[in-house]
Amino acid sequence: MTRVLFWLALVFLVLFAIRSKIRGMQQRARAQQQQPSQPFTPPGRTRELPDAELMLCCAHCGVYYPASENVQAKGHDYCSHAHATL
Ligand SMILES: [Zn+2]
Repeated sequence: MTRVLFWLALVFLVLFAIRSKIRGMQQRARAQQQQPSQPFTPPGRTRELPDAELMLCCAHCGVYYPASENVQAKGHDYCSHAHATL
């Protein structure tokens, strides 16, 4: 008799776990439907990238480089002094 009760309790617990899992998935799907235009953002992060730096294209070699390393000559932007003098 105790074996039957044990198996009944086990089946009940498994069904309860499956049901709560399905309910959690439904709530997550509903929350995503309510905010479809919101792209995923990791927690603790903002949408802007404050550390992003403007990139420029070298007029000689075409390489993109940070604007802080820019060398301007003859009205053009270059990645290095060597390319600016060429
Ligand atoms: Zn260059």
